[in-house]
Amino acid sequence: MADTTKTPPPSFWEIQKKQQRISLFLFLMLFIFYFLTVGLISGAVLITAGVFLPDFSFFAGSFFYKYIIVVFGIALGLAGLNFIQARKNGVRYILRNLRARSPDPEDRYHLSFLNILEEMKISSGLPGLRGYIIPTVNINSLSLIGQDGLPAIVVTEGLLAEAGRDELQAVVAHETAHILKGDTFLLTLICSLAAFYEQLIDSLEEQRELSRPELKSPGRAKGSTQPLIYLASSISFLLLNFFVALVSQKRELLADATAVELSRDPMALARAIYKAHLANSFLGDSSLFTSLFLVPPDSRDIQDSPGDKLFNTHPPLLLRLKLLAEMAHKDVKAVIEEVRAREEQREKSRLLYSPLEDRGPDSQEKLRQLQLKAREALEEESVWLARNTRGQWDGPYVLGSLVTLPYFTPATRIKNLKENLEGPARNFPQVRFALFRQLKKQPLDPACQNKCPVCRTELTSTFYEGVRIKKCQGCQGKLVAMADLEKIFARRELAFPDRIKQKALAHGEALLAPNLKPPVLKEKPPALCPECGLQFTLRPFSYHYLMPVYKCYPCQQIWFEDEELEILQILVEDSTRNRQPANQS
Ligand SMILES: [Zn+2]
Ligand SMILES: [Zn+2]
Repeated sequence: MADTTKTPPPSFWEIQKKQQRISLFLFLMLFIFYFLTVGLISGAVLITAGVFLPDFSFFAGSFFYKYIIVVFGIALGLAGLNFIQARKNGVRYILRNLRARSPDPEDRYHLSFLNILEEMKISSGLPGLRGYIIPTVNINSLSLIGQDGLPAIVVTEGLLAEAGRDELQAVVAHETAHILKGDTFLLTLICSLAAFYEQLIDSLEEQRELSRPELKSPGRAKGSTQPLIYLASSISFLLLNFFVALVSQKRELLADATAVELSRDPMALARAIYKAHLANSFLGDSSLFTSLFLVPPDSRDIQDSPGDKLFNTHPPLLLRLKLLAEMAHKDVKAVIEEVRAREEQREKSRLLYSPLEDRGPDSQEKLRQLQLKAREALEEESVWLARNTRGQWDGPYVLGSLVTLPYFTPATRIKNLKENLEGPARNFPQVRFALFRQLKKQPLDPACQNKCPVCRTELTSTFYEGVRIKKCQGCQGKLVAMADLEKIFARRELAFPDRIKQKALAHGEALLAPNLKPPVLKEKPPALCPECGLQFTLRPFSYHYLMPVYKCYPCQQIWFEDEELEILQILVEDSTRNRQPANQS
């Protein structure tokens, strides 16, 4: 708990006063920036014109006077527009850009973060404190002031997974310190201002996408707006550099010091900063937000040279660690030692994952029986033929696969082998019923609902590394929401037996050899999604990891058979773990 006797935290009223002063100051700066830019550019144009036009003199008294007034007006207008837009949409834009989401109280890691926020809200006297989470395995945090004036702290899944409770508390305290000092307000506004042009382009893109919805994808096609984007990012970059010069590195050190006052644990903060520094690679998509973060998103590149000191938004790592360690009467070596010791402790406390193959021949035999039965049932239900666009009969299919066919419409000619009937699909009551249920977002076939797609055992709702999933107790298959995968990859609760590690290694090697077809690209039989009843699409997990998995795009779910998710976890962990505490100078 915070000790408020030493330095009472500023009241919210005081903070708001400060924010008003910051706003005014930034608006003035923005105005001066536009005044100079517009003035210089138009002045250069006019002077050049003066060379070619004999009767025209730029510096003639009356013209110059009018000219200044016009430039003044344009600059005021631009600054006003930019400012209003930033206050109105800036934070939403930043959050969307970072893919930040609200915490899920059902998730154990998220809940712990929410609890820490609540404690910090009380001990800091803030009227409210929101939390957001970025789904990435990187370790970082930042703070923002929302549109309604309430502060928010944003952390990554990586931080939640890697930091102990005390370390997370220290990081939240660090961000709270930024909020109390007014830094958060200043930086949020600066970033919102600088994002103005990118926002403009985004809204242009959105309008284009509305007319062509099929182009809607996360990495939008940016063909025709390429030069605009270039111009916008140059202006944003200029603006940002102009303003960031106003925000000194000292703020980070001050926030570290205030954080220690709030959390009383300098070593925890030092450990968190060091972990973040070790684990970090690039985060987000632009240098725009760099100054907001706990550690700069590509912190490993920062050296302690005088040049970098000028241009970096954050003070050098070693200085920060040294100052924090000194508060606990220790040194930087102790910080690194503690991180290493905790890491070892953690590795030891991981629970061993026990795949089906390690559970004896009995359970394997039982599973084989189940799978056989399931396959027989599927074959029995495969009574539908469909006439494709070339007039040939495809099939036989089960109902779920039939309506998933790319060319299927209610007018498609189909045949039921069991009833020996043929006609357009809409004439069959079974098809109408299935389409009706699909329309109502219910599973196509009530009999398949919540049944394992491979062995037809009833699925149970359970937690896997703190994430709610559906699991088949028969074959150990798992249905995981695509949005939750980053959490599972960030968290390291489970340890895997050597046999699975060997398999992962083989996969990894196959991926490295370009000529070798990965051994994992075997065919799998068609299977139905237990949520919606449509047939799964068999796709590689990602371009990086070519393991084929069952995906349901309408439900945004992936079905992993036993060991598949675990192999992917091992591969992703290996690729993100360049975080061996390296030799420190
Ligand atoms: Zn199963
Ligand atoms: Zn589905």
